[in-house]
Amino acid sequence: MSTLPSDARVVILGAGHGGAQLAVDLRAKGHAGEILLLSAEDAPPYQRPPLSKAYLSGAADAPPPLLRALPAYEKAGVSLRLGVRATAIDRRARRVETATGERLAYDRLVLATGARAAPAPFVPADLATPAAGLFTLRSLADARALIPALAAARRLAIAGGGLIGLEIAAHAAAAGIATTLVEAGPRLMARSVSPAVSDFFLARHRAAGVAVRLDARIEAVERADGRIAAVRLGDGETIACDLLVSAIGAQPRTELAEAAGLGLDRWAGGVAVDAKLATEDPAIHALGDCAAFPSPWAPDQMRVRLESVQNAVDQARFLAAGLATHSSGAQDAPAAYDALPWFWSDQGADKLQIAGLSLGVDRWVARGDPGSGRFSLLGFAGESLACVEAVNRPRDFMDARKLLAAGESPPAAALADPEVRLAA
Ligand SMILES: Cc1cc2nc3c(=O)[nH]c(=O)nc-3n(C[C@H](O)[C@H](O)[C@H](O)COP(=O)(O)OP(=O)(O)OC[C@H]3O[C@@H](n4cnc5c(N)ncnc54)[C@H](O)[C@@H]3O)c2cc1C
Repeated sequence: MSTLPSDARVVILGAGHGGAQLAVDLRAKGHAGEILLLSAEDAPPYQRPPLSKAYLSGAADAPPPLLRALPAYEKAGVSLRLGVRATAIDRRARRVETATGERLAYDRLVLATGARAAPAPFVPADLATPAAGLFTLRSLADARALIPALAAARRLAIAGGGLIGLEIAAHAAAAGIATTLVEAGPRLMARSVSPAVSDFFLARHRAAGVAVRLDARIEAVERADGRIAAVRLGDGETIACDLLVSAIGAQPRTELAEAAGLGLDRWAGGVAVDAKLATEDPAIHALGDCAAFPSPWAPDQMRVRLESVQNAVDQARFLAAGLATHSSGAQDAPAAYDALPWFWSDQGADKLQIAGLSLGVDRWVARGDPGSGRFSLLGFAGESLACVEAVNRPRDFMDARKLLAAGESPPAAALADPEVRLAA
């Protein structure tokens, strides 16, 4: 990381999990200069995971689960500006422009702009609004629009069998809404989990009353009275619905970086950064959902883009340590970002926890019987333990995290007995 003078002005774009953590950590680690944290949203920085979980069951005007109390930013000397969207980066002048025409100078700029919901190509523009029955779920505003719509709905269609679509499906089915989830691929959560875990959750969601359609694509919607009234699948079948939630994936918000001429990673899709989270411009860093970084947990240290709280928060901590170390003159910042990736998802009563990356996995070892509702899968790349997927077995998750972090790979056969602790 290049030197950051102690009076340097750091501007952070995005006050989500990564941006908010970076701002307070930078100060805690001793950076003395100005820290400006811009948020395009009006709400104080809040936790995103509850939006598809507990928060959905509450009232639309329930207070958001804040990341920290609002005065904490002032106390940390962080200038948090809500409702301010950055619209351009002038790299030569080291300035950010905002939607209201302000120009904000920076010495160091951090892109923490997260991701947006991928647009639903099967919905025409005039129906692509909550008023016409189309919803996505990324932000507090999205959740606040969705809650009353769900409360009034009898039939819900969900596009996408990924983590967020399934969490919403579990909630809706439990609330007595006739829920159909349409997934284009042959299995659920295919980008995130092994086939055995996909199968387990398919059975669970079906048992809870969700009509899951695999290998099925929503091609179009049908309208009545200016609203979405049904979805039409590729085979011509129509499924009537009062509302449609599109949960077909997230797209990293990279447009500012692109317009400023910064490189993207073509495979992973985010703003390309190095092992210190610097873009090709040493004055600009990127982290969290919008960044593609070289991961020591991926084969050949390839660049990946992860969408998880752990990744955003750990990258923020890493960057804060590196930047503040330079401003204080100390030299103890870690050389490269190497935190173990982990993630969780709550679907109905089931808890899925994942640690490590499965990109290079060539063999899965099962611990426990999926029929019991509690089991884990350990993914091996050759002889090396690469990841764990634990379903309702939090102890396996914790133990495997320790093994992974320590770089230990006990022989696969020794790990298969669910009665013997992994830590043993
Ligand atoms: C519904 C939902 C459920 C989730 N559940 C889980 C879970 O169970 N476990 C888990 O690990 N992860 C979960 N995630 C993912 C996790 O929330 C994200 O990985 C994490 O929030 C990423 O943090 P971030 O700081 O990169 O981006 P974000 O938290 O998305 O924050 C980015 C912020 O930048 C703002 N912004 C964007 N552009 C600009 C601009 N030009 N100017 C100013 N501000 C801008 C955005 O408005 C946003 O507020 C979930 C996400 C969602 C949406």
